[in-house]
Amino acid sequence: MPVTIAYVFVFIIGASVGSFLNVLIYRVPRGEDFVKGRSHCTNCGVTLKFYNMIPILSWFLLKGKCKNCDSKISARYPLVEAIGGVLALACVLKLDFSLRAVVAFFVMSMLVALSFVDLDTMEIPNGFLLWLIVPCVISVIMFDDLTLKQKVIGFFVVSLPMLLLTYVVDGAFGGGDIKLMAVCGFFLGWQITLVATFLGLVLGSIYGVFLLTRKNAELKQHFAFGPFLSAGIIIAILWGQELVELYIRMFFVYPYISECPVKFIFG
Ligand SMILES: [Zn+2]
Repeated sequence: MPVTIAYVFVFIIGASVGSFLNVLIYRVPRGEDFVKGRSHCTNCGVTLKFYNMIPILSWFLLKGKCKNCDSKISARYPLVEAIGGVLALACVLKLDFSLRAVVAFFVMSMLVALSFVDLDTMEIPNGFLLWLIVPCVISVIMFDDLTLKQKVIGFFVVSLPMLLLTYVVDGAFGGGDIKLMAVCGFFLGWQITLVATFLGLVLGSIYGVFLLTRKNAELKQHFAFGPFLSAGIIIAILWGQELVELYIRMFFVYPYISECPVKFIFG
């Protein structure tokens, strides 16, 4: 079946992008150039042969160790590659082979990269946020599902309350989180931004409760919030519309209105 082969191909491309994201996640916080320089072992510096750079598979073939110095290679590498593959596939299944799918996957890729950097450093580098402006511009020019007004409201709808909250509760949110919700808010429009934020807060809270159940967790312990917001945004891009419809049905409003008031495919 040609379609199945196309899906396999999409997964491989996604996993390869994931491989590049690994490079970004490692090099961007260190200020290293991510275009120049071949991939190398972070311990002994040996350059990787091309057959050691097959996404996901290589890590298993090498049994998670550097061939040269035997140091452990983090399982995060194949994990990020697998995430890349799965997200690329999800975008194509949801949005078909289209520019929308490419743009959605680009946004998700940036979100994955900045999430892992946030986990490592508790900071979201501005570079990732600047790159997210590109899909925003494309969406204004190419897609017409959202009005500019919806997008501008989306820019402020979550970022502004977050900003105000940090004045009341010192350090409630990091500057990176606020900027993330501003730029993604513009991309998604205000409706889906609210869904994304709600999901992010739920996921973050679940993790927070999980932290509290652990023995030596401190109540005031800070944790990176970027990954949860990003997960919320990714879920909202894929299923935001369905979630809004489900929510409305659950509260019995649905039978009284002929159709779901929120029409959304990002754009
Ligand atoms: Zn090595």
